[in-house]
Amino acid sequence: MHFDVAVFGGGISGVSAAVNAFRMGKKVILIEQSFTVGGSATSGLVNPFMRYWLDDKILAGDFFQEILDDLKKYNGRFENTFDSEILKIILFEKLEGVTLLFRAMPIEVIKNGNYIEKVVVQTSVGNKYEINANLYIDATGDSSLSYLSGCKTFSGDENGNNQAATLMFTISNVDFKKVRESIRNDPDNFYKWVSPDSKVLSVAGYFKEVKRAKKEGFSYPNDYFFFIQLPGNGRVTVNTTHIGINATDEFEISEAMKIAHKQVYQVFDFAKKYVSGFKDSYIEKIACLLGIRESRRAEGMYVFKGKDVVDKSKFDDGVIKACYGVDVHKKEQVIDENEKNSVPKYEDYYEIPIRSLISREIKNLAVIGRGFSSDFFGQSAARIIPTCVDMGEVVGKLAGKVKKDFHELFEDSRN
Ligand SMILES: Cc1cc2nc3c(=O)[nH]c(=O)nc-3n(C[C@H](O)[C@H](O)[C@H](O)COP(=O)(O)OP(=O)(O)OC[C@H]3O[C@@H](n4cnc5c(N)ncnc54)[C@H](O)[C@@H]3O)c2cc1C
Repeated sequence: MHFDVAVFGGGISGVSAAVNAFRMGKKVILIEQSFTVGGSATSGLVNPFMRYWLDDKILAGDFFQEILDDLKKYNGRFENTFDSEILKIILFEKLEGVTLLFRAMPIEVIKNGNYIEKVVVQTSVGNKYEINANLYIDATGDSSLSYLSGCKTFSGDENGNNQAATLMFTISNVDFKKVRESIRNDPDNFYKWVSPDSKVLSVAGYFKEVKRAKKEGFSYPNDYFFFIQLPGNGRVTVNTTHIGINATDEFEISEAMKIAHKQVYQVFDFAKKYVSGFKDSYIEKIACLLGIRESRRAEGMYVFKGKDVVDKSKFDDGVIKACYGVDVHKKEQVIDENEKNSVPKYEDYYEIPIRSLISREIKNLAVIGRGFSSDFFGQSAARIIPTCVDMGEVVGKLAGKVKKDFHELFEDSRN
């Protein structure tokens, strides 16, 4: 099967790349191992869209803005929070014209020198297809296509530890008035950035309740309780389960899913018994995808670094602007006192260069989303949904412009 562009991974970055390449007039296939699109942003129940603006200046690109507008149109958005099911509907709408191949993953990469010539994919019912494309985009989040192609990849911090995983879930029928009251009455019981008056409730804390529950023999997987308000009435997404894992070990990940479901009930049970406003709440849904923040990162022509985030680096080939800071969920859960007592400031942005989205070794391969070319700390900042959407937009548009491969960009600029 021949295509101009083959995108592997239908998460938010892959969808963005596929749609943008198609809009440039390209024949595009999107290959996804599950049966839906959006990845962590839909099946993972991740919310909200992390910071993508500076004061009144939107840093994210046009395609992200289009998603924001559509979510509003479909009544699926409240400020920077969104409804995961409505997002799925919107993403499928945008994919009109793109060939979809679900329940499929790459099993073999056939190369010719520094080029991928074709990729053999296998579906869950055992069918095999040879996908031949001019350009390939790895949006698997785990850099699986790059790994299969024999490219250099990185994983974890300097000790090889990946970020902790979280199984997100939604609780409904929460009394927000009572939640706001609790914050107002005892602000020290929360992270300093938590406000009782914020439009969207984003609440991390309840340190005293967690301590009391643990003292009374309650099993609880964290030192705090963290949730964010969702569109609708009394709905929150909970970001509190916590499992240290080796994110590329399928046996560990599978076992983690079992542990995570136990933790979901522990957190919910705790909330109902100890947290004001949660007495009459119920579990609306549990993510069907374990939230893996970081696993394998491919090596590109530039490795984007945590230092670039802190220094607010700008590049000649800077193509994405972002301001979200380094955000590591350590394997072992420990509350960082600095983080607890500070309010993040967003005064300037950093850029991500196009070189960190292009494979160093394979000329017709780009790597986008949470597996893009970055060090552990750089990835921890740039992995947020708006930035992943931007990576897809930039590379999708580029796929519509380049004549032969992604490396020609740099050869041109060297001439
Ligand atoms: C617990 C958690 C909380 C987070 N909180 C926030 C937040 O509050 N705000 C925010 O903006 N961001 C947050 N993030 C980050 C953000 O959600 C993700 O980094 C981002 O959505 C990643 O998008 P992606 O497209 O790169 O990858 P994914 O969403 O991981 O998508 C990858 C897709 O590729 C598919 N795939 C994988 N391997 C293969 C293969 N071999 N073949 C075919 N298909 C494959 C997967 O099924 C999936 O659909 C959070 C992440 C986690 C895990």
